[in-house]
Amino acid sequence: MDASPLKKLEQLEFSLDSVTDLSSPSVSSSSPAVATFSCVDGVTELRFLQPDSTHCFTFDLASSQLFKLGTVQFICVSNDNSEERSFSRGVNIKFGSEKDSKEFCDSFEEWRKGALVPGSSTVSGSKSKFDDKIEASSAKMYFHYYGQLLHQQNMLQDYVRTGTYYAAVMENRSDFAGRVVVDVGAGSGILSMFAAQAGAKHVYAVEASEMAEYARKLIAGNPLFADRITVIKGKVEDIELPEKADILISEPMGTLLVNERMLESYVIARDRFMSPNGKMFPTVGRIHMAPFSDEFLFIEMANKALFWQQQNYYGVDLTPLFASAHQGYFSQPVVDAFDPRLLVAPPMFHTIDFTQMKEEDFYEIDIPVKFTASMCTRVHGLACWFDVLFDGSTVQRWLTTAPGAPTTHWYQIRCVLAQPIYVMAGQEITGRLHLIAHSAQSYSIDLTLSAKMWGPGASQGGILQSSTCKFDLKEPYYRMSQPQAYPVSQEPPLPPQPQLNTQIENDEFEEELLQEPSQNASTQL
Ligand code: SAH
Repeated sequence: MDASPLKKLEQLEFSLDSVTDLSSPSVSSSSPAVATFSCVDGVTELRFLQPDSTHCFTFDLASSQLFKLGTVQFICVSNDNSEERSFSRGVNIKFGSEKDSKEFCDSFEEWRKGALVPGSSTVSGSKSKFDDKIEASSAKMYFHYYGQLLHQQNMLQDYVRTGTYYAAVMENRSDFAGRVVVDVGAGSGILSMFAAQAGAKHVYAVEASEMAEYARKLIAGNPLFADRITVIKGKVEDIELPEKADILISEPMGTLLVNERMLESYVIARDRFMSPNGKMFPTVGRIHMAPFSDEFLFIEMANKALFWQQQNYYGVDLTPLFASAHQGYFSQPVVDAFDPRLLVAPPMFHTIDFTQMKEEDFYEIDIPVKFTASMCTRVHGLACWFDVLFDGSTVQRWLTTAPGAPTTHWYQIRCVLAQPIYVMAGQEITGRLHLIAHSAQSYSIDLTLSAKMWGPGASQGGILQSSTCKFDLKEPYYRMSQPQAYPVSQEPPLPPQPQLNTQIENDEFEEELLQEPSQNASTQL
């Protein structure tokens, strides 16, 4: 029998082998039943329901107890009359397996805790902000992934990433020394240990996945910091902290900055834990965009769907699925490190200020785009990358994932249009990058690029060609098989320009991007 716990809206269900009323065992059937934990009007209840009958037993968890009779059997009793210590009602419940009975028992304890101390339990009746918007299956896979050391190692071995965080913290010691820090999504605890090295008074390392246990072990093995770091296992949306923080540190960025939707948890942590004049490391992020031309990539993608052009595949005509396959390939954003010489216009960027954004602002991000083509070419789509700023009191440091800069584990991302557009040098390219958050911790992307009129009639501003594509950021095409040589930037990254939300980037940056490639290419993970 399957008794897998199913967390529905505000409830958790278990399948039982049987349930029997202790007061009248003869009339109760022992047919399969469902036990449901729920929170109704602030009261945490446990209900037993036999689907094929009208029997329903409801217990207030605050006054209920569970007694174990055997490996798969319990008695649940309700103590309505606490003065006399007599139990007014009880049921005998039986599970199909030991595993199911253990899971039920653990849940009973957690929900009971929530009933006794409202808001104290992570599985309390009131569902967390995180569970409200994220599918349980997506969250399960997500935290399973981050619970594994190999994936934390992958991030730790991104030396551009980890080294930049280390530099940003150490250069800004005064922001950490003697301060209370919250590490939002601590993973292995590395950033907590950086903060402690910089002299933090206390660090709360909040981590929702099983990695929290490894972080505890790692921190305990570093006695220089161990007594100044507390690991708290749970989601930042759910846990409580004993004091407010002077500074938050986090690495919540996904591809295209916003993938994984962890920035929402970062700003929730800000609102829940940061004192009014607190700092955030990183402070702002920018999504950079530029049209690109890459004939090889376009042909590679178009060719993938050609498989479905076969009319005699072991005697089967595959062509009815060609259009769907073609559309499927062109809905995958391409993730790789590309040569910045593929960009055909100076990039622009959209700023996201982590200190100001509301959680809901991340649900839909609409970016109007406008570029001026620097050459006569065929535009195959929009290339995107991001950077984040650590706005320290001493040093402002940027972490960039730009093409041409040393490669990070985020690489860059390109949205390839199934129908390219043709442009002349000087021609304006306009359009829109529209990101809509979905419950699988990612985004649907709508991209439109249009070439405006060029030459004498341009002032009338008519659109000559337009191309639109939809992408799912959750389903990228990882295209990192061939190591490629890209130029290493010698220039410091752009200074922040936070006045406007969306800006065209300056020429300096363009020059930096378009430098000659060198052979001492950045290392790939
Ligand atoms: N800070 C670490 C890990 C970064 S990866 C480092 O820089 O190496 C992001 C981590 O945040 C993952 O371990 C993930 O499990 C955790 N995380 C994501 N969302 C979270 C949330 N809502 N609450 C707590 N932890 C979360």
